[in-house]
Amino acid sequence: MIRFEDLLEKIRTYSPEADLELLRRAYVFSAFEHKGQVRHSGEPYLVHPLEVSDLLADMKLDVVTIAAGLLHDVVEDTLTSIDRIRELFGPEVAHVVEGVTKIGAIPFSSSEERQAENFRKMLLAMVDDIRVILVKLADRLHNMRTLGHLPEDRRVKIAQETLDIYAPIANRLGMSKVKNELEELSFKYLEPKVYEALRARVEAKRKSIEGTVEGLKRTIAAKLAEAQVPVVAIDGRIKRLYSISEKLKRQKIDLDQVYDFVALRIITESVKDCYAALGIIHQTWPPVPGRIKDFIAMPRPNGYQSLHTSVISEHGFPFEVQIRSEEMHRRAEEGIAAHWKYKEGRVGDSRDERYFQWMRQLIEWQQEIRDPQEFIQNLKVDLYPEEVYTFTPKGAVKALPRNATPVDFAYAIHTDVGHQCVGARVNGKIVPLRTRLRNGDIVEIVTQAAHKPSRDWLNFVVTSRARNKIRHVIHAQEKTRSTELGRRLFEKEARRFDLNPKTLIEADGFGRVLGDGSTKPEEVFAAIGYGKLSARQVLVRLVPPEQLQEKPPEGGVASVVRRVLGTGEAKIKVRGIDDLMVFRARCCNPIRGEKIVGYVTRGKGVSVHAATCPNVVNLLYDPERRIDVEWDKEGDAARYTVRLMIQVEDRKGILADISSKIADVNTNITNAEARTGDDHRGRIDVTVEISDLKHLQKVVKALRNVTGVIDVERAAK
Ligand code: MN
Repeated sequence: MIRFEDLLEKIRTYSPEADLELLRRAYVFSAFEHKGQVRHSGEPYLVHPLEVSDLLADMKLDVVTIAAGLLHDVVEDTLTSIDRIRELFGPEVAHVVEGVTKIGAIPFSSSEERQAENFRKMLLAMVDDIRVILVKLADRLHNMRTLGHLPEDRRVKIAQETLDIYAPIANRLGMSKVKNELEELSFKYLEPKVYEALRARVEAKRKSIEGTVEGLKRTIAAKLAEAQVPVVAIDGRIKRLYSISEKLKRQKIDLDQVYDFVALRIITESVKDCYAALGIIHQTWPPVPGRIKDFIAMPRPNGYQSLHTSVISEHGFPFEVQIRSEEMHRRAEEGIAAHWKYKEGRVGDSRDERYFQWMRQLIEWQQEIRDPQEFIQNLKVDLYPEEVYTFTPKGAVKALPRNATPVDFAYAIHTDVGHQCVGARVNGKIVPLRTRLRNGDIVEIVTQAAHKPSRDWLNFVVTSRARNKIRHVIHAQEKTRSTELGRRLFEKEARRFDLNPKTLIEADGFGRVLGDGSTKPEEVFAAIGYGKLSARQVLVRLVPPEQLQEKPPEGGVASVVRRVLGTGEAKIKVRGIDDLMVFRARCCNPIRGEKIVGYVTRGKGVSVHAATCPNVVNLLYDPERRIDVEWDKEGDAARYTVRLMIQVEDRKGILADISSKIADVNTNITNAEARTGDDHRGRIDVTVEISDLKHLQKVVKALRNVTGVIDVERAAK
């Protein structure tokens, strides 16, 4: 077991100025909090945070990271709160510990490749400080090293998660040493028999060819020296068991057919020497066709540079040779040569390209900044800023663009789920549908059969999928509504001239009256309903002028609107905006008794404005779309809310006086707000419930009589 003093000594060698006092306090605190806890191995729990910190010290990380390593399980496994950590060890340590705790709480549940990729991205997106990932990887590495003590089912679960999530992240961050060990250990626990059999075979093979490999190295050294190509190092290595096993599976071959089972690596001083060395290798041994790769001239997208070739020795022994300069080698070891994409056999998307650019940039900064501590402290990760990763209740990940809402989420699941979405729970709480989702949110969509999307959704959805689906339904609905409205308007117009609408509609040529190639009567009605032309214009095209004799109006608009509404209730003629076909315009909110004007909108039905509404003037530019409407003569129990702006003198008790005057005329106040200005004047806004114009006039008159009221005005909504 590692001693804490040894850990401090290790840190002192690479960071003489490090705040070791902070580490001592963290160590004592962690020891106290984990007291009495034991690991599956039977060792005291404290061994784990200590080992994790030691791994972090091997990576030469700063004291904040190492302190966080010592404390990383304290919040999750003891009663300590994150606030307490912040209090005792400062915001930075607390931030890292909190990040590690959060990642630990993510329910990784699927090993499906696409899902795993999303998990990895989400994890990286959730983390705003790369030190969180470094602690998490060290944590995972130590857990994997001690995995043998766990029961088998947990071993398999943790090993699978390591292989799917953590090894690729280590790889992506260029930590190839960590990645390799995680993969080897995962392989060992996931497929113990396969692992053991392969290990035995590879070991036997290695022994049998040890001498051959040494001979090859000597030959290369001699040939290069002869040609005066300076060499820094030549080494031979055997591929790792995990990657051999993957290769055997992928290519369905036997171990004997693996060309790069042994790879010799030649490190040269310069780029020029790489090509010289390649020439000499090819003069010495015949290359295997199709296996020569020049990653110097054409670097991999992740910046990896090297020459690769496979040759056959004089004994018929195939092996791979990698040639690169010292500089390229250093970069590869530091991680920029993450093999990630090509080994997983994927075509990278543009985001990966950007990621690697970012990575290269980091490496460059790292070279500029002398102090690696400073570098790591200043590093903030924002790898996938344009995406947000959310979960279904079953734990599947949905990647959405940033600012996506539950409606986007619903459409991402299924078109019908989107259409029928009536509500959403995020992390168990009901939220408005326009809520912006955040990383890690668990989203549950509440649906209702036959529910239809709302036009309002278009104001906040961000995915084009959701937008298109919503538009599609709304257009279809609008078309149906407009067609119905057009039919009613046409029938009414025909009756006004004492003509039988049925005869006109069924007559030849009705469908072609638009003259735009369409033949269906529905298209004619839709054109009227959308306000493209009026019912009168259609009539004029169908009937000779001498037959157009207007008869005196009778039921007038009332019957039209009533039928359009389809309610059959005489008292409803113009009602609230919730009605599908006729609605009060939002700009002026006319109330019963006011003079009103109807207007055929493009697809939304008839909007009803007050005749005094400024917008009505604009409507006159398109007179064909204007239609007559009127209030029903029968009583209507509807109430309209009206906001009144009252200018007052700033005097005590005026609000009370106003409220009581309004109550005196039997009127409800739904809202009141008072403000005072700096000129001894104030403004009071009250929202009142009004049944008709007369009622409103009564209220206004009552208010004008209150002492101190200067003016009363009706607010445009
Ligand atoms: Mn841990």
